[in-house]
Amino acid sequence: MVDHCSAPGLLPLSHALDNMLSLIKPISECEVIDISSTLGRVLAEDITSPVNVPPNDNSAMDGYAFAKQSLLHSTTLTLIGRSMAGEPFKGECIAGQCVRIMTGAKIPTGCDTVEMQENCHVNGQNISFTSTASKGNNVRNQGEDIAIGQQVFQKGRKLSTIDIGVLASLGIDRVHVFRKIKVALIATGDELKNPQQQLSEGDIYESNSQFLSAMLSTLGADIIEFGIIKDDEQAIRLAFIKADELADVVISTGGVSVGDADYTKSVLEELGEIAFWKIAMKPGKPFAFGKLPHSYFFGLPGNPVSAVVTAHQLALPALLTLQNSLYEQPLVLKARTTTILKKSPGRMDFQRGIISHDSNGELSVTTTGSQGSGILTSMAAANCYIVLPLEQGRVAAGEWVNVQLFDKYLQ
Ligand code: AMP
Ligand code: MG
Repeated sequence: MVDHCSAPGLLPLSHALDNMLSLIKPISECEVIDISSTLGRVLAEDITSPVNVPPNDNSAMDGYAFAKQSLLHSTTLTLIGRSMAGEPFKGECIAGQCVRIMTGAKIPTGCDTVEMQENCHVNGQNISFTSTASKGNNVRNQGEDIAIGQQVFQKGRKLSTIDIGVLASLGIDRVHVFRKIKVALIATGDELKNPQQQLSEGDIYESNSQFLSAMLSTLGADIIEFGIIKDDEQAIRLAFIKADELADVVISTGGVSVGDADYTKSVLEELGEIAFWKIAMKPGKPFAFGKLPHSYFFGLPGNPVSAVVTAHQLALPALLTLQNSLYEQPLVLKARTTTILKKSPGRMDFQRGIISHDSNGELSVTTTGSQGSGILTSMAAANCYIVLPLEQGRVAAGEWVNVQLFDKYLQ
């Protein structure tokens, strides 16, 4: 693997991504599970529909069903019965007749149209129609949502809440999904403390593994928490060996920048094949990626904002690939910046912003203020990244910029 730390330039984000994704071999093991447990899981099979949805022509309204032809001769029809959801009318409805029908009920044989009850006048068995529906009105046709044999979902789809409803509507209760990926999280740093602990001088509360864990659970991964590991060569070695045995992916934060990176770097070089990259992005310059004997390794920077942005922009696409999930490029919009944006050419910036509509109905974006890579609240207040290209310098207020909306993994 090329060590881009020793290369003269910084590695562009797209190169790092291509390089990483080409090295990931998606998992192959799958299991059959109940659809109720499939939220965020990745389909290991194509789903074709075993049924028509809806299974029969049925009514979209409460009203009266008849053959449209009948109303050409008279505005009054004779009521001969009723069709309820789950209790269809059994006979045949002929010219001059109509059937009381409820929403979702099967359209009786001989009928092709439904008039809603608000447009009907009832006088015993005689039903008069004050407005005439056109043929086929208020009829939901058999198979109009999904036809029998139609492919509904493709292998690799990450199942959403709505997808679970669609599977249920097909009468499917169990599906093949890829097994969950196992991700070990390690926070390195002598200064890190857990919430129950007293902070000594120079200490800070550990936050990276908490939001990473939350992000990974939205991804549908099993998380193995290693907590805080001291900047100690043997402690780091033992943690990495154990994590590699248990997980498909090991993610550490901290210790990848020059200086205190030494133990992490030397241990990783001893255990596996890891490249230390300096990526042309801000925040998040130092980043490590590679292979341990049994797992993939991501070394994220310690600064919380850098850790989130590299996790989101680099680790997440790789994890989705490992899961067999079909990766969708993030949606990029154009918006006008309301303020100047400080920027020096040389790195791609992921500044944090709030996108909204201005008084002209155009999209505008406002920076969340101080963009230091330790300022996690700059991320919490934001709903998007303002993505400024590598070569871009300072941006004047009122200019159009690219904006990437925060997706479900950050919400
Ligand atoms: P490092 O990458 O280890 O040099 O750390 C860079 C900065 O991020 C330092 O200010 C660390 O204290 C901070 N940091 C490192 N790890 C964490 C963590 N898990 N949670 C919060 N801050 C961290
Ligand atoms: Mg550190």
